Amino acid sequence: MTDTHCPYCSLQCGMTLERRGRVLEVQPWAEFPVNEGTLCRKGWTATGLRGHRERLTTPLVRDRGTGELRAAGWDEALDLVAGRLRELRTAYGADAVGVFGGGGLTNEKAYQLGKLARVALGTSQVDYNGRWCMSSAASAANRALGIDRGLPFPLVDVEHTDVLVLVGSNLAETMPPAARHLDRLRANGGHVVVIDPRRTPTADRADTFLQPVPGTDLPLALGVLHLLDAMGAVDEEYVEARTTGWDDVRRSAAAWWPERVERVTGVPATSVRALATLLAGADRVMVLTARGAEQHAQGTDTVLAWIDVALALGMPGKEHAGYGCLTGQGNGQGGREHGQKADQLPGYRMIDDPAAREHVAAVWGVPPESLPGRGRSAYELLDALGTDGGPKALLVFGSNIVVSAPNATHVASRLADLDLLVVADIVMSETAALADVVLPVTQWAEESGTMTNLEGRVILRQQAVAPPAGVRSDLDVIAGLAARVGSPVAFSTDPEEVFAELGRASSGGRADYAGITYDRIRDEHGVFWPCPSADHPGTPRLFGSSFAHDDGRARFVAVQHRGPAEPVDAAYPLHLTTGRVLGQYQSGAQTRRVRELVDDGPFVELHPMLAQRIGAYDGEPVVITTRRGELRAPARVVDTIRPDTVFVPFHWVGANRLTNDALDPASRMPEFKVCACAVAVAARAAERTGTPA
Ligand code: SF4
Repeated sequence: MTDTHCPYCSLQCGMTLERRGRVLEVQPWAEFPVNEGTLCRKGWTATGLRGHRERLTTPLVRDRGTGELRAAGWDEALDLVAGRLRELRTAYGADAVGVFGGGGLTNEKAYQLGKLARVALGTSQVDYNGRWCMSSAASAANRALGIDRGLPFPLVDVEHTDVLVLVGSNLAETMPPAARHLDRLRANGGHVVVIDPRRTPTADRADTFLQPVPGTDLPLALGVLHLLDAMGAVDEEYVEARTTGWDDVRRSAAAWWPERVERVTGVPATSVRALATLLAGADRVMVLTARGAEQHAQGTDTVLAWIDVALALGMPGKEHAGYGCLTGQGNGQGGREHGQKADQLPGYRMIDDPAAREHVAAVWGVPPESLPGRGRSAYELLDALGTDGGPKALLVFGSNIVVSAPNATHVASRLADLDLLVVADIVMSETAALADVVLPVTQWAEESGTMTNLEGRVILRQQAVAPPAGVRSDLDVIAGLAARVGSPVAFSTDPEEVFAELGRASSGGRADYAGITYDRIRDEHGVFWPCPSADHPGTPRLFGSSFAHDDGRARFVAVQHRGPAEPVDAAYPLHLTTGRVLGQYQSGAQTRRVRELVDDGPFVELHPMLAQRIGAYDGEPVVITTRRGELRAPARVVDTIRPDTVFVPFHWVGANRLTNDALDPASRMPEFKVCACAVAVAARAAERTGTPA
């Protein structure tokens, strides 16, 4: 029996793995407090990829003659990759090599990947797919609160607040075990508010449901601020003692009276007033944002506006209250703390801070001046591939870019222009299928490593079974490449050793792991960072007495509503929004291959009024078109979506051929959650274009 954690989302539910003959069974781990033995269907079926016929077990190299991938030995594959990387570096400079990581990688892998880029390859061109997940919340929290830890309190605190406001979160579907906190909160007499363009299963659990136009959560927050101020409900004492910047926010909110909010958001003015009244009368209010609020070209400002609401009410730092972000990917939190981001070094240090460079370089045993500077953000990195001045080679770990990147057709064309694409993965993902070299790596349950869940709790995934013959861990691959490209220092392949080094590198940083060990994690059901020393208890709750800015105060930040980067017009009259479904995870590379998980493929969710207008019936193929591409999928006619909006899940190839690559100026987050689209019945669309239906 091995205690470990689910391979998927940021809840990182605890589970026990038990071997029964050749079968590996998932069992509940009731003592682990985050999920108390409950799992969603993805967790229960997590062993479904073990022994899967599509599992990669040998390196593959693209044959120059046939253009096909052929089996190769590890030495041949790694020698080939390292040789090409050295040639490209010599010809074009160190930044000719790009590295792309993932929010599902363990802390140890994320750390070693950043070190591989900066120390062994000397490139600044490293970033990861977490940039597309919760980076807007990260940049907003850093700016307002001085630190980015998704939830600054344990998730269980949700049960004890008075009013919970969920902005753009469908946690009942994306992390079902967390939904019990909503039920318990309501049983305790609390009130749940859900704000979402779709009436999701989470909204079905709400006492108040508001359904704004996609991309208008920001003016809704400004409207609430306007009313709180008008009602005299701003906690002036708290604002005076613990914050700065309220006067600017008060001025910017003054222009957002309820009727104007209604005109922009579609939320009735009476509902905006009712929400403000509810918040004004509550002792404890908790605001949580997720991708619905964050994945916008104004995502950072949207989150800032909701943090402003929480600050105006005097909530951050108060028990069972405040602001938090519900991180998405399994290690979305730890993955953004230890150096695989273009602008960061381990410990959430900034790469252009001389003191940070000196500290981390000393741990790595290299001169600080040898470390490159800030590189391109994830989408900008992909956009530059194969161009003059852009990377000529890309190493991809733990990411299925051609499914998950916005404007995916363009991204696929950039990958095609590379001299070398290397993908480390467990199965032949859509991105691996395009690679010149594919490296088969271990999956969860076959390796150990730490993750940091949405609460900032560092947890330990423990190895339960041996990997298949022929497969190596990502840490082995990274170390093998580092040695072959002539790294000045050695890279450990032992996860516990790497974690200890990560702890030293993070020491004194914002995300300080120095006092955390594998043994402590085992003994304490995870340890919350910051935890600077072995005798420090960890920090489940932040901001009790001060915020993380030097003066200890939080910052109100005044923001303006700009609206979606691509407004609807006559040619594209509808809003397209994207998201997840219960049985699938991220690009679906894993979950689409698990037999027990239903895979009906993508669908287009539309309101009965819209369906009637275009003449579509439930299940009929429709074509959804944006300025970047089109997708054909069956209509799913539901009255839970706004009539001016359509929804497509993003787990399959196609959804992100539609999405917009407009970026948030602060977080560089693409605008996945809203763009302009048109939809038509497939047969009629085919008649118009002359293509077969
Ligand atoms: S909620 Fe998330 S972590 Fe928990 S079982 Fe489901 S996918 Fe796994």
